[in-house]
Amino acid sequence: MNETVVQGNSGFEINELGEGAFAGQIAALKAFLDFHQQFDRETKALAVARALAQASLERLEKGRPVTKYNSANIADMVGQKVGPDGATGWLSKVWKALEQSLEERRTGIQDVARQAGATIYAWPKKAQGAGGAGNSSEYSIEFLSLPASEAPVVAPLAGEITYVQELTLKPAFWARPLFKKGFPLKGWRRTSFIAFGVVVLLAVGGTLLLTWIALNNPKLSSSTKDVAVWVLFAMMMSWIGYSILKPFSDLADLRLIMAPDVMVGFSELNVQLELARERPADEEPFRVLRLVRYSAKCAVCGETVHLADGKREFPGRLVGRCSEQPREHVYSFDRHTRIGKPLR
Ligand SMILES: [Zn+2]
Repeated sequence: MNETVVQGNSGFEINELGEGAFAGQIAALKAFLDFHQQFDRETKALAVARALAQASLERLEKGRPVTKYNSANIADMVGQKVGPDGATGWLSKVWKALEQSLEERRTGIQDVARQAGATIYAWPKKAQGAGGAGNSSEYSIEFLSLPASEAPVVAPLAGEITYVQELTLKPAFWARPLFKKGFPLKGWRRTSFIAFGVVVLLAVGGTLLLTWIALNNPKLSSSTKDVAVWVLFAMMMSWIGYSILKPFSDLADLRLIMAPDVMVGFSELNVQLELARERPADEEPFRVLRLVRYSAKCAVCGETVHLADGKREFPGRLVGRCSEQPREHVYSFDRHTRIGKPLR
C-alpha cells in the first residue's frame, strides 16, 4: 500500500513520545477494533474506520508512529475501486456517514477502551491538507484522553460479562429533534416535559368528566349504543393516557427501562430509555433522558448480548440475553459496575 508521508508543520508530536506512548496507543486501537468487531454493522463507512485503525495498529506494532493517509490510500485499504480522481469525492461522502456513525458509538468506544485499562481512545480524524485548495484532505487516527467516568472499572470474573453503552441516535422520526443529543431535564425542556404530563392527565380527566356528564344526560345517552360508545371512548382515552405516562413513571422509579416502541426508529432494536445524571464541572447536576443501548460480548459463545425485559422469569428486571442463545445465555445487569453475572 502507498503511504503518504506527510511532513507539515502539524508534524508528529507523537514521534517524541517513545515506547510508552506506543503501548497506550496500541491498547486504544485494539479496544477500538474490538468494539467494532463485536457491535458493528457492516457499512462502508465503518469499514473505512476499521481499515484506518488496522493500518495504524500495524505501524505501531512495528515500532513506527501512526501516519496520515490520503483518500486514494484509504480507497485502496477497503478495496474500493475508484480512479485517482474519484477517491476524494468518494471518501468525503463516506466520511460524512462515518462521522455520524462514530458519534453514535463514542460512548461504546470509550467504554471498551476504559475497560481495557487504557487512558486514551482512538478516533478517526480528517484534516485539511497542507497548502490550501487543491490539496486533498488527510486521514489519520488521533488519540483523545478518556473523560472521567462515574462508574468504576470492575474486572469481570470468569463467566461474567461487561456491558458497554452505545449511544443510539435513531429515535422515531417524531422524537428525533428532541432526542438527538438526549433530552436534558432542565430549563424550558424540563418545564415542557412536566407540562406534557399534565396535559395528558388533563385530557384523560376531561374525557372521564365528559363521559360522566354524557351518561347523566338523557339526550346524549338515550340508547344502550350511546352508553357503550361513551364508555368505550372513556376506556380508550384512559388506556392511551396510561400507556403514555406509565413508562415515565417507571423511568422515574427505575432509571432505566426498555424504550417504548413508539420512541424508537424502526431499524433499532434492544433500545433502552435512561434517566441519567449529568454532572458538568461548571453547572448544577441535572438529569437527562437518553436513548441508549447496553450490550456485551457473551462469555459462553462470543455473540452479542442485549438487554431485554426479564418478563415473568425475572420480574421487574432487565436481563442480558445472548442474541444466539437467548434462552440459555442469560445474564444479570448492573448499571453501576456494568457487570453481568450468569443467571443460568
Ligand atoms: Zn451466548
